[in-house]
Amino acid sequence: MNAERPAVEAVACPSATIVIVGAGQAGGWAAQTLRKEGFTGRVVLIGDEAHPPHERPPLSKAVLSGQALPESTQLMKPEAFTALALDWMPGAQVSRIDRAGKKVMLTDGTAVAYDKLILCTGGRARRISLPGADEVGLYTLRTIEDALALAPAFSPGRSVVVVGGGWIGLEVAATARLRGAEVVVVEAQARLCERTVPAEISEHLLALHHAQGTRIMLGASVSGFAKGADGRSVVHLADGSALPCDAIVLGIGLVPNDELAREAGLACDGGVLVDARCHTSDPDILAAGDVAVITNAWAGRRMRLESWQNAQEQGMAAARSALGLAVDYQPLPWFWSDQYGMNLQIYGVPMPTHRVVRRGDPASGSFVLFYLADDVVQAAIGPNAARDLRFARRLIEQRKPVDAERLADPNTPMSKL
Ligand SMILES: Cc1cc2nc3c(=O)[nH]c(=O)nc-3n(C[C@H](O)[C@H](O)[C@H](O)COP(=O)(O)OP(=O)(O)OC[C@H]3O[C@@H](n4cnc5c(N)ncnc54)[C@H](O)[C@@H]3O)c2cc1C
Repeated sequence: MNAERPAVEAVACPSATIVIVGAGQAGGWAAQTLRKEGFTGRVVLIGDEAHPPHERPPLSKAVLSGQALPESTQLMKPEAFTALALDWMPGAQVSRIDRAGKKVMLTDGTAVAYDKLILCTGGRARRISLPGADEVGLYTLRTIEDALALAPAFSPGRSVVVVGGGWIGLEVAATARLRGAEVVVVEAQARLCERTVPAEISEHLLALHHAQGTRIMLGASVSGFAKGADGRSVVHLADGSALPCDAIVLGIGLVPNDELAREAGLACDGGVLVDARCHTSDPDILAAGDVAVITNAWAGRRMRLESWQNAQEQGMAAARSALGLAVDYQPLPWFWSDQYGMNLQIYGVPMPTHRVVRRGDPASGSFVLFYLADDVVQAAIGPNAARDLRFARRLIEQRKPVDAERLADPNTPMSKL
C-alpha cells in the first residue's frame, strides 16, 4: 500500500499529481506542506470559493465587527501563495469522484486526474426547516460573504435573535452586542455549549453574556418564523411567545461536506472516516479538517474536530501521508473562543467520569478546571488563563500523575508541576 512506500518515491516523482478538493484552511495547509516536503509534481487545489485559502475564526470576531478586513484572514501572503506554483482553481466545484478512473469531475464537466486525492471539503452551516423559514432572511456564518452580509445588521437600536447557544452563536452574539445591537440568544438545551463544555463553564458563559446585557433563553425551542406587519421578522417559540427582531442568525452547527465521499462509496459516519495516516477507505484518497472523522485517542471515540488547530495539523499530516511519509496523527484537541475580550481555551476532551480540580477563583474571571483520571490530567479548560493552559497541555501530553492539591493551589507555579 502507498503509505508503506519510501517517502522519496512520491516526492521524487515529478509526474505525479496530487489533487486537493477544498481550498480552506486544511486544503491550504496540505498544499503548502506538499511543497515544503519537496514535492515537485503537480498540485491542483480546487475550491468552490473565490478566495485563496483563509482562516475562519476572525469571521465571527474581527471581520464581523469591522476591525479586520477579509483579506487579513488569508493563510499566506499572495507572494508566498504564488510561490507554491499550484494549479489553483478558485470558484470550481467538484461534483464527483471517479475512483476507478482516478479523477475528479467538476460541475463544468472538466476532469482532473489524480495519483493522490486529499479531501478538505470542510462543512457548511446547518439550516433549519421550520414554518416561515423562507419568509424571513435567516443569516448563517461560515464564509467571508456571510460575515460581510451580516455585519450591517449589527448596529445600535437594531435587534438580533441568535438561534443556538454554541460557539458560533455566542461569538456572533458578543460581536452584535459590542456593536450596540439588542441581542437575544435562543438555546434549546438547558445550558450553553452543552455538547462541548462542562456545566461550570456554561454558567461562566451565561454570566458573561448576561453582564453584557444579552438575553439568553435556555430550554427554548424555535417553532417557526414570520414576517411582521411592520416588516420586521418574528421568531416564534414553542411556548407560544414571539420575539420580534431585525435580524435572525442561525448558529446551530455544521453539516460536513462529505457527499462526494459518500457518493464515491468511501466509508463515512457523520463525515469521512480516516485513520491516523489520514487515509480514507481508499488508500489513494485522504481527508483532513472539519470533514474528517477520526478515532481520537484522548476521547476514546470517533469524532470530527471542528477547530483551527485540527484544520492546520491534519491538513499537514494528510499531505505528508500522501507523499508516503510516516504519519501518526493523534492530536490532543485544542479549541479556543473569544467573546467580549474573554479568551476561553479547551485542551483535551473533558468527560463526566473525570475528577475535576479547580485552580483559581471563577469570580476573578480567570481560572482553570482540570479533568483527571487516576491523578493524570486528561483535559483542561479555562477562561483568560492562556499561560496556565500552556502548562496544562504539557501535563496532559506527558501523562504523568500530579498532586491534585498542588494543582489546585494558584501559589504553586504550574511550571513546578
Ligand atoms: C465563523 C467561524 C469561527 C470560528 N472560530 C474558531 C475559533 O475561534 N477557534 C477554533 O479553533 N476554530 C474556529 N472555527 C473553526 C475553524 O475555522 C474550522 O475548523 C476550519 O476552518 C476548518 O477548516 P477546513 O479546511 O476543514 O474547512 P473549510 O475552511 O470550511 O474549507 C473547506 C473548503 O472546501 C470547499 N468545498 C467544499 N466542497 C467542495 C467541492 N465539492 N468542490 C470544491 N470546493 C469545495 C468549501 O467551500 C470551503 O472553501 C471557526 C469557524 C467558523 C466558521
